[in-house]
Amino acid sequence: MTTRSLPPITSLTEAQQRGWACVWCRAALGIGLGDDLGEQRVRPANGAAYSWFPRQCPDASACLARETS
Ligand SMILES: [Zn+2]
Repeated sequence: MTTRSLPPITSLTEAQQRGWACVWCRAALGIGLGDDLGEQRVRPANGAAYSWFPRQCPDASACLARETS
């Protein structure tokens, strides 16, 4: 489990918000793959609150390499 704070949801793609892609490096994650970071609640300034479900790569070092390359 990461201790990093998640990036702002407004900076993420729809795939990242839905847990289809890694929240850090944007690599596609298969269904059921990746590490679930837990349900996140967002309350936009204008609009209804909603949940999103970030996931990250199971291989953290490879993920970091992709993120920083
Ligand atoms: Zn990743």
